[in-house]
Amino acid sequence: MPDAYADHLTDDNSEADAVPAADRMLAVYTTLRLGGPAGTVTTAVETDEAVAVVRKATAEGRPFLILAGGSNVVIGDAGFDGEVLVLRNRGVEVVAEGDGEVVVRVAAGEPWDDFVGYAVANGWSGVECLSGIPGSAGATPIQNVGAYGQEVEQTIVAVHAYDRVADEQLVLTPAECGFGYRSSVFKHSDRHLVTAVDFRLATDGLSAPIRYAELARQLGAEAGDRVPVAQARQTVLQLRAGKGMVLDPADRDTWSVGSFFTNPVVPAAFFAELTTTRGGMPHWPGENGTVKIPAAWLIENAGFPKGFAGAGVSISTKHTLALTNRGSGDTAALLDLARTIRDGVRDRFGVELHPEPVLVGVEF
Ligand SMILES: Cc1cc2nc3c(=O)[nH]c(=O)nc-3n(C[C@H](O)[C@H](O)[C@H](O)COP(=O)(O)OP(=O)(O)OC[C@H]3O[C@@H](n4cnc5c(N)ncnc54)[C@H](O)[C@@H]3O)c2cc1C
Repeated sequence: MPDAYADHLTDDNSEADAVPAADRMLAVYTTLRLGGPAGTVTTAVETDEAVAVVRKATAEGRPFLILAGGSNVVIGDAGFDGEVLVLRNRGVEVVAEGDGEVVVRVAAGEPWDDFVGYAVANGWSGVECLSGIPGSAGATPIQNVGAYGQEVEQTIVAVHAYDRVADEQLVLTPAECGFGYRSSVFKHSDRHLVTAVDFRLATDGLSAPIRYAELARQLGAEAGDRVPVAQARQTVLQLRAGKGMVLDPADRDTWSVGSFFTNPVVPAAFFAELTTTRGGMPHWPGENGTVKIPAAWLIENAGFPKGFAGAGVSISTKHTLALTNRGSGDTAALLDLARTIRDGVRDRFGVELHPEPVLVGVEF
């Protein structure tokens, strides 16, 4: 791979560069290493170039797919018969500073964790708990990326995007982005090409208040404490690595899209009924009187332990929520495994699991 995401991919995939673009397997671009051929693939390293690709595909009425780090997509074995834009525009620029904060504009194709590392090295805080998440900065608003008590909606102040419908470049406010739990107006829509994102970060060198109990415990801190920002980053990276949630080409537990399912959110009355027959179920309060249940707990308690395998695919041996390609799997097998788990959880608990990644060319 000739690009910034090369370290996401194995040597097994490196020969794909020699393959003519029209025959390229999209597996090369995804962390699952799954996905059939694209119609055409165009890599854009400049924003204008990316916009031109999108504009042309739109004018020609061709199906169109944006890929950046490929860490949140499940692409069918038949591939994608259209234009695939591989986004590699880069750059980090301070656009405002003062009053103990800085606003940083990050090009969409910038590898997310490079930016987090840069922010932490500068003593800027607000994204440190999102350390180690694969993919690009421009994809973080798509599903309001979150982990260890932080979500990008807490720091995003603007999203720069090209709007295919209006054929114009615009700047969306956080309210216009419609952020929710692993969602936004961008997810499951191909209307916008995000070109850059502005983040507002604090500059005092201390992390945002720690909100996540496991992280607080590991830091030896109390919930709400602030710790040196580099310490927060290091601790998050350690926790994530132990769960196979930091990409490592040699570790097939990381050949995944991270969490395959979102945590189900159910009405409080439904949850109350569920726990009369099944006490001790972990849960958190959700929005508007709802209850959020950890999908990992439901999966394990429906009889699917870590390592539970399908054909060339399995649940990660380190994390119940990650479905992985062991090297010989295909997308059909991965989705069979996902359906088996979804159906088992539904039969056992009456709770529906929903996939977190974007599915391309497949039904679930
Ligand atoms: C090991 C592992 C751990 C993970 N941990 C987490 C986690 O803790 N929290 C979390 O939230 N996610 C996590 N993820 C999921 C994933 O890393 C994030 O969702 C990430 O933001 C996806 O970025 P990407 O560049 O790889 O997007 P891609 O997979 O390339 O694209 C994902 C979707 O966004 C669209 N898209 C991408 N870039 C743009 C753009 N510039 N403009 C418009 N649309 C765009 C694509 O068309 C596609 O629909 C994890 C994934 C892995 C493999």
